[in-house]
Amino acid sequence: MNEPMNEPVNEPVNEPVNDNNRQTTPCLPGRKTEMDDPGYEVCIVGCGPAGATLANLLGLCGVSVLVLEREGAAYPLPRAVHFDDEVMRVLQTIGLTDSILPYTHVSPGMRFVDTGGRLLLDWSRPMEVGPQGWNASYRFHQPDLERILREGAESRPSVQIRLRSEVFAIRQDAETAQVEYEDLSSGTLRSCHARYVVGCDGGRSVVRRVIGSPVEDLGFHERWLVVDALLKRPVPSLGEHSVQYCDPARPATYVRGVGERRRWEITLLPDEDATAMAAPDSVWRLLERWITPEDAELERAVSYTFHSVIAERWRSGRLLIAGDSAHQTPPFLGQGMCAGVRDVANLGWKLARVLRGQADDALLDTYESERLPHVRAYIELAVRLGGLPGAERRNHVGGRAEIDHRYGEPLVAEIALLVGDIDRGIAGRAGGADLDHDRFGNGRRSADRDENAGENCADQ
Ligand SMILES: Cc1cc2nc3c(=O)[nH]c(=O)nc-3n(C[C@H](O)[C@H](O)[C@H](O)COP(=O)(O)OP(=O)(O)OC[C@H]3O[C@@H](n4cnc5c(N)ncnc54)[C@H](O)[C@@H]3O)c2cc1C
Repeated sequence: MNEPMNEPVNEPVNEPVNDNNRQTTPCLPGRKTEMDDPGYEVCIVGCGPAGATLANLLGLCGVSVLVLEREGAAYPLPRAVHFDDEVMRVLQTIGLTDSILPYTHVSPGMRFVDTGGRLLLDWSRPMEVGPQGWNASYRFHQPDLERILREGAESRPSVQIRLRSEVFAIRQDAETAQVEYEDLSSGTLRSCHARYVVGCDGGRSVVRRVIGSPVEDLGFHERWLVVDALLKRPVPSLGEHSVQYCDPARPATYVRGVGERRRWEITLLPDEDATAMAAPDSVWRLLERWITPEDAELERAVSYTFHSVIAERWRSGRLLIAGDSAHQTPPFLGQGMCAGVRDVANLGWKLARVLRGQADDALLDTYESERLPHVRAYIELAVRLGGLPGAERRNHVGGRAEIDHRYGEPLVAEIALLVGDIDRGIAGRAGGADLDHDRFGNGRRSADRDENAGENCADQ
């Protein structure tokens, strides 16, 4: 168990943390604070995928929202590359599928291979539209989605986004919550009132700290090098499937991205220096079994330490947390951002109903009780899946023959079991977002329900 101030965060270890436009203006105790007027129904701290999606969902219901975002631009480093059909359905609800679809690629699935390249498991995803009305697995580039989400939120009359606004303190009483923040472009200290504050402020969440929630550590902490490359010419040998290389010496993942973009996620060994390994020469040495500089150019290479953590408390009165502020997972299932989008899909309509006086404030307590077990199930699955290929190395098992004997067949069996969980619908078993009232076994899109959600919201 970690205390909130010491929590691990899924963030780059050889790059500054999301501070591309940051100024170092200190928050001087004696400085005068300017009060924003009027107050807002909801203040969202952070405009990553979770915050921007929530702003869209609340804006759809006409809820007055102020989004405070520390940075001047969306996060530029490599992160999410996969989202699923439930996320696409949320995007449909907020009217953004036409905008995002050109920036996606339907994924045929993932293959697991051993050190010799032999196929251990073929986890193909259906290429036809499924019960949610969308494909099961989309590849995308997170900065594209973040741009589209922000543009969507900015177009909502009741939503305001303030960039370069860093929240540093929050107070609440029976009537309201007061959020204090610094306008980083001028150094002015400002403050605003809101009936609810939702922290979508990532792994180092200030809102989680104010809530005082401890963070439960689910035990996975590994350094991985994440490389995005842009192909200069076709490399057919890479194939269309993503590939999990179950190489005990150095587990790695290959992801076929959108357009020419290709992603490799490669384990760093304990004695390797993260910064040195992200240097182009080292990266090309690691990639040489797949591509050379003649095939592609490196877009970005960053070393991350991946963690698996869940906040124990997601709400305190008027304050709530969602997305990476509430949980972080290693990316082996591609579900970190998806979980954050499910969080806000669960929370958004509840906040709107409570704010309109159509439900008691106690409805908000069901947010954590519904979402936390679901998130936990996904993280535990990702930890087990990600841990399998490296198990031999961590357990100091020696020799190829011993590895095959001890891990070959059991590995295949366990991966099959794990991915079977997903295909059977872990969401249904563990309680997901409020997305599955209507089942569309015929694969028909749920246009009436999703795309008219705003009208339904206004009618309520
Ligand atoms: C290598 C890698 C691969 C991944 N692959 C996948 C994948 O394939 N699929 C998937 O679903 N997920 C994936 N993820 C996870 C995904 O990227 C994250 O879960 C997602 O970005 C979290 O979104 P968020 O909005 O909760 O937080 P963030 O994206 O971290 O956004 C938080 C925002 O809050 C702002 N902020 C922070 N503090 C303050 C403050 N005090 N005041 C104001 N603003 C503040 C930050 O500037 C930031 O913009 C991956 C992650 C990594 C690192």
